Amino acid sequence: MPFEVRYDGALLTEPGPSVAYTGGCLCGAIAFRIESELAPIQVCHCIQCRKAQGGPFATNIPVEASAFRLLAGAQLLKTFESAPGKQRFFCGRCGSPVYSRRESLPSIVRVRAGLIDQPLRTQPAWHAYTASKCNWWPIDDDLPQYPEAYVPATNDASPP
Ligand SMILES: [Zn+2]
Ligand SMILES: [Zn+2]
Repeated sequence: MPFEVRYDGALLTEPGPSVAYTGGCLCGAIAFRIESELAPIQVCHCIQCRKAQGGPFATNIPVEASAFRLLAGAQLLKTFESAPGKQRFFCGRCGSPVYSRRESLPSIVRVRAGLIDQPLRTQPAWHAYTASKCNWWPIDDDLPQYPEAYVPATNDASPP
């Protein structure tokens, strides 16, 4: 069944089965589908995310595991435990980071936003671990900045 992304705003208040995103890794072996609207994007400047992405920060979206469907590439999905109880999943062929998951929060997968195929309605919400940020990428937006982890009240956002 084809997915549909609309921009008239109607779906913002009535997410339903037609709200879905697709994504995949660089080589295309790993493909996934997210069957929900997306939470705000968490920008993480921690050193682990910088190294895992090869960039100044990571852009992560917490997704309910029940809404995340791996469509292809399960046999290529490798993991690295970057901190005790935290697994980073990546493509074993092309190296794309795909998502991370905490053993303490198994109901959430933290999807790397850059892998998603469609334009997103959601936007970055805050910067975390700015005490660890690189010195060559200035933050020039007005989003909140947190020197270490930021844990919102909702259960969908433990530290990235
Ligand atoms: Zn790949
Ligand atoms: Zn991080």
